Amino acid sequence: MKAILFLLIPLLLLVTAYFIMQPSVNANSLYHIMTDSTKNLQGKSMENKVVKSEEEWKKELTPEEYRVLREKGTERAFTGKYDHFFEKGVYKCAACGNELFSSDHKYDSGCGWPAYWTALAKDKVILKEDRSFGMVRTEVLCAKCESHLGHVFDDGPEPTGQRYCINSVSLEFEKK
Ligand SMILES: [Zn+2]
Repeated sequence: MKAILFLLIPLLLLVTAYFIMQPSVNANSLYHIMTDSTKNLQGKSMENKVVKSEEEWKKELTPEEYRVLREKGTERAFTGKYDHFFEKGVYKCAACGNELFSSDHKYDSGCGWPAYWTALAKDKVILKEDRSFGMVRTEVLCAKCESHLGHVFDDGPEPTGQRYCINSVSLEFEKK
């Protein structure tokens, strides 16, 4: 009888140990699944962005494009290729190709730069407060590559009352 007990006790201990270990193993694998899916989510959100070094941008863009898009410059008024241009199509970011504006929303503001009363969609652009040159303005950036496009003002036509004043050099037109 005693001999059986000596055999049973270690066996019971082993079984108990096995069941105690089980939940921790499950918790571990669950932890791995969770961290993996977080990694994937981060990876995806990064895929939608275009991130390049200033050296790379310098190689890809013309000096004037680089000055405006990457150094927040402004082309001279009334000189841009799309200032008095009203063909039907879509205006893309000259740096990354992100579709930004439509000819349907373009109007002749007379301000010397292409003007739109809205962007193609809210998530196409980033709006950022700009306090340079002693003024408070709202800068418009491409949401995909964060290149400078121009500024948005509150003196536009209906239905939005907004005027997206954009540098031609920041845009690439595609007929549609
Ligand atoms: Zn862009």
